[in-house]
Amino acid sequence: MPPPFVIPIFIAHQGCPHQCLFCNQRSITGAPEGMVGAREVEETIRTQLAWPRRYPDAPVQVAFYGGSFTGLTMERQRELLGAAQPFLASGQVRELRLSTRPDYVTSEIAGFLREHGVGIVELGAQSLDDRVLAASGRGHTAAQVRTAVACLKGARIKVGLQLMLGLPGDSTATALASGRAAAALGPDMVRLYPCLVISGSPLAELYHQGRYQPLSLSRAVALAGRLWSIFNGQGISVVRMGLQPSASLEETMLAGPYHPAFGELVLSRLFFNQVRAELSVRSPQQAHCLCLAKADESIYRGKGNANVKRLVALGLLEGVETVFSASQPRQSVVLNPVDS
Ligand code: SF4
Repeated sequence: MPPPFVIPIFIAHQGCPHQCLFCNQRSITGAPEGMVGAREVEETIRTQLAWPRRYPDAPVQVAFYGGSFTGLTMERQRELLGAAQPFLASGQVRELRLSTRPDYVTSEIAGFLREHGVGIVELGAQSLDDRVLAASGRGHTAAQVRTAVACLKGARIKVGLQLMLGLPGDSTATALASGRAAAALGPDMVRLYPCLVISGSPLAELYHQGRYQPLSLSRAVALAGRLWSIFNGQGISVVRMGLQPSASLEETMLAGPYHPAFGELVLSRLFFNQVRAELSVRSPQQAHCLCLAKADESIYRGKGNANVKRLVALGLLEGVETVFSASQPRQSVVLNPVDS
């Protein structure tokens, strides 16, 4: 099945009453209120359906991004969802998706969304630790995340969980416990975002006062890797690690573990560990062929060939020839003895 063709529609945030420490609402609410209405939704869908597609048979999703959708008035939710209904009815669009806060989901709301063709809801859970949620000013509890997941699943809506790494009050232990608690909820997908210090946010003030220190890039990559392993071990897809790079993010970011290819760094570190473990148990007297998927070559090498240099420094590549094959499954490591 090809990946879905996603038609994004950005909705104005419209005055969130919360104040999460990491959030600069001004950058989120950049679009003027009410800018997107039914007409814009229809036009966007119609225009993008006409675009040439790499996979013409890919299912089409319309995604409402940019805010807590179910925090909008019911009238506005009906207007936006209603505009997509003719495309669902005609089969041109398979399903709708949106993101929201856990405390903005009830079983009634989940039922309403399902009736309007919403198939996926991503919840900004951020953590499953009440102390971390409180210290981050989230304004909801872990119990509310659990309730929201149950309501969505009860309405047969797929659930995505967004988690943040390095929030105020968080630690490696609480982050891993939070990851395990999130995995136990059985989400259909997860996104992992490192907490960044954004100009104009309450966290920026704490940072300037020396009361908040973001994770280093190296620690964030290591932590994301451990969380990825928790979810992957339970068959839960981690669909994104790291924020989408953008000029506005790079302009407003004061500090924190930002990297435009954060996810690639994490996968590269995980793959390095996997390859190192395989190579560590081979007999150095025997020559070997290290067989890897061609598509994994960049994560195997790492940034600036750093992974290979580390393996060389550890003496693990002596007597090893590395071969990349287009037919080998991704993230598989095969070590074959060869006659010398
Ligand atoms: S991150 Fe928090 S404060 Fe910012 S828009 Fe979302 S809920 Fe509101």
